[in-house]
Amino acid sequence: MTNSLADGLRELVSDPARVLTELAVVEKLSKDFYWYSPVLKRQLEAKAADIAVQPIDVIEVLAIARYAGENGVPLTVRGAGTGNYGQCIPLRGGIVLDLSLLNKLEEITADGVAVCQPGLRLATLETAALQQGWELRMYPSTLARASVGGFLGGGSGGIGSVTHGALRDFDTVRAIEVVTMEAEPRVVRHEGPAVHEILHAWGTNGIMTRVWFALTPAVVWSQFTAGFETFEEAFLFAKGVAEGSEWTKRLVTVFEWPIPTFFTPVKQVVAAGKALVLMMIATAQLESLRSAAESAGGEVTFAGDYVGPRTQPLLSDYTWNHTTLWAMKADPTWTYIQAAFSPTDCLEQFRLLRARYGEEILFHIEFMKNGQGVMIPGAIPLVFFKSEERLNEMIAYCGEIGVFIANPHVNSLEGGGRYRADNIQLRAKRKYDPKGLLNPGKMIGFEPEALAK
Ligand SMILES: Cc1cc2nc3c(=O)[nH]c(=O)nc-3n(C[C@H](O)[C@H](O)[C@H](O)COP(=O)(O)OP(=O)(O)OC[C@H]3O[C@@H](n4cnc5c(N)ncnc54)[C@H](O)[C@@H]3O)c2cc1C
Repeated sequence: MTNSLADGLRELVSDPARVLTELAVVEKLSKDFYWYSPVLKRQLEAKAADIAVQPIDVIEVLAIARYAGENGVPLTVRGAGTGNYGQCIPLRGGIVLDLSLLNKLEEITADGVAVCQPGLRLATLETAALQQGWELRMYPSTLARASVGGFLGGGSGGIGSVTHGALRDFDTVRAIEVVTMEAEPRVVRHEGPAVHEILHAWGTNGIMTRVWFALTPAVVWSQFTAGFETFEEAFLFAKGVAEGSEWTKRLVTVFEWPIPTFFTPVKQVVAAGKALVLMMIATAQLESLRSAAESAGGEVTFAGDYVGPRTQPLLSDYTWNHTTLWAMKADPTWTYIQAAFSPTDCLEQFRLLRARYGEEILFHIEFMKNGQGVMIPGAIPLVFFKSEERLNEMIAYCGEIGVFIANPHVNSLEGGGRYRADNIQLRAKRKYDPKGLLNPGKMIGFEPEALAK
């Protein structure tokens, strides 16, 4: 099978060396950070594609899609493979379409929209944008490696979301061109609300080949950390900054003790025994923030410049889902859940979870604005893994007490909690991928044409 696939694909790309057949290479390109979840680790470790191919333009993508369609071969799109839920792990073999060479930044328009190919790294875009007075509205903590296409296909938000919401909010994604998997593949442009058919669909209903991504005017940022005696004091101080419209901020994070003990490379910002607040704040407000933190009982442990993705220490490397990585380095038994606490009842929700689970759950808060402009205590709490049953029981209990969970321990769009209730992703799948060859098995509500009859 692999030999005939390789022969077929080599006909379609200008350099046959971009068809990759070596087992170790194909296996590597079939994996992401699924092992963050002990549940997915077990389910997915044996899954891999048969072959990988690296197109360099849309003509090649169209040709590969046509070939896969004609031959009934599954095709799974890959950006940089930093996703957490096995999003780009092929469940049924076939082709990995590695878009890392489709990585041009075409332009940044006068009104601050980046027009780019999906394989462009977010850090490259941030650096180019800064040179023209713009910056990313939000980015995942995997900025250095992650691609624009992968962020739109599988990500949600990150650093910047405290001000600009998630990817799906505030018209950040202006337009997307996708290559379809129809009998005759074509390029279809999605604009305005139609981008939501494709956003966060895990590459199940189209291959993004061009993106219009809105930026925001650049701000001169600083990084700031402070320790507080209790988690509640740290949380309330951070909540005030997150909600206060007078503060220009890019990141507002809170870690309860002992999470900061996991951050061994930046021991200098950790105050022993204290909860840690970590922020990116406009440099012009750094001294005001210092005074506010001290007045609230905080011990300021770091206040310094941010000069782009190469800043050292880059404190965002300890936030969002990097926090989980540092915990797992300290003890691989740690895992995580993704939560949104209630803006009004969160203190009671923290109390209930602590009473029931003790230090089996540790609070890590990432404030983020929702699409209605409400500041949400988003969270990626650490969970000390005992069993799948215990994890599922905790997730169910969160639901009972009004804590929203986007479950990171399932390998389907529907199970993850960000599936569109209006089914527009499913309708796009039926239109663009009637045979169900794009990342098969990830949109479980879909039945291929042949089965649906
Ligand atoms: C340490 C760590 C921290 C993280 N922090 C964050 C965070 O702060 N915020 C966040 O949102 N995520 C976070 N993530 C998850 C992940 O890094 C981001 O979502 C990232 O943007 C994914 O980009 P990628 O290029 O690696 O995508 P990939 O993993 O390659 O792909 C992700 C999904 O998108 C699909 N896809 C990729 N390219 C295309 C395309 N051109 N067309 C259609 N579908 C496509 C893939 O098939 C896959 O389903 C984190 C992960 C790790 C390991």
